[in-house]
Amino acid sequence: MNLGRVAQILGITESRLQGLQETIIRESAWPEPRLLRFEKEASGIEAGTVVFENGEIVFGYPKIRRPLMLAAAIKRHFSGPIAVEEKMNGHNVRVLSVNSEVVALTRGGFVCPYSTEVARRLVPEELFMRHPELVLCGEMVGPENPYVAKDIYPTDSIDFYLFDVAEKNCRGTFGVHRTHDLAEKFGLKATAFLGEFHRDVAFEKIKQIVIRLGRQGREGVVLKDPDNLVSPLKYTSSATNCSDLAVAFGYYNDYALDFFVSRAVREGFQSVEWAESEEERRKRAQQIGESILMPLVETIKRKQAGESIVQRVRIRVKSLQTARDFEYHLRRSGIRALFDPPMPDDDSYLIGITKLVMSTNDKTQALLDGEMW
Ligand code: ATP
Ligand code: MG
Repeated sequence: MNLGRVAQILGITESRLQGLQETIIRESAWPEPRLLRFEKEASGIEAGTVVFENGEIVFGYPKIRRPLMLAAAIKRHFSGPIAVEEKMNGHNVRVLSVNSEVVALTRGGFVCPYSTEVARRLVPEELFMRHPELVLCGEMVGPENPYVAKDIYPTDSIDFYLFDVAEKNCRGTFGVHRTHDLAEKFGLKATAFLGEFHRDVAFEKIKQIVIRLGRQGREGVVLKDPDNLVSPLKYTSSATNCSDLAVAFGYYNDYALDFFVSRAVREGFQSVEWAESEEERRKRAQQIGESILMPLVETIKRKQAGESIVQRVRIRVKSLQTARDFEYHLRRSGIRALFDPPMPDDDSYLIGITKLVMSTNDKTQALLDGEMW
């Protein structure tokens, strides 16, 4: 690997790169190809940025900021029309070809064996044959997503939706229109394009879209500058805030405090901005309250009945090796999980996974035994 060239593409000096190698850059030798991974952001280089053994660089997918007062943020942030896309709820992957092999990188810059198998099945080979420099940024969603399982999308398994495209060794992405053109050209699914609105009417339109998506249990929207001149913003439905709260309270000791607080605060701002009636506000309050209390009670009662607090998910693989590799991948990511024996199903195997939620499990038992909070 030519360090000088790598530093140049990253936009830092070679000595700075060497300094980072001792602090935030981690090596990952498995699975192939070997790579260096930025564990945190540094010198303006996104977390999750990856340098492959052959010297090719894939920048991390940029963070998307979230306003709480939508109308004010739209005025402040955008200067022209606003393209609205659905925000899908799964996990972020960057799919690309290295040494002629397709791999899927997680947000943190690991090669995920399961996402890689899914990407190899869903992305046409022709795309990387014709464009080996491309990095497909997309969301993997569905009930067979072991990171974020959701059955609100039109798939019984797991699917890939393109939302952006980048090039190796380049910062920045193509933006909305080129992304959707590429998806169409190669028959890939893309996150739904929900319209382009003039800045002055955007708030009311987006509010209606978010309400409609919320009714379908969908997550929300990402607002994008059609010419990619300013960074995107994200905004989510109350239904998603509540379902996040419900999941997190079920495993209350395994989530950071900010996860709970930020979602509760979002609800407060949305209720004010939407100028709700007393009745609407009470309904929202009831939904938030139920999202907090019901899963908590469920967890406590389950523990009381002698059950372990676990999370059940499932994957579907073509090759049993993928499942073994994924098991190892979860372990190295610090997730404790038990894999059921594989069940043959059509031309693949279905594998149930029990994720252990140790902290909530132990804390709940201790509290039931009379320990202090
Ligand atoms: P952040 O990306 O801001 O660091 P996060 O990792 O917690 O936050 P989310 O809150 O889910 O992620 O929001 C951003 C993510 O939304 C993106 O990284 C991407 O994976 C996902 N996403 C889903 N749909 C889209 C879309 N249409 N455009 C861009 N990103 C999308
Ligand atoms: Mg997400």
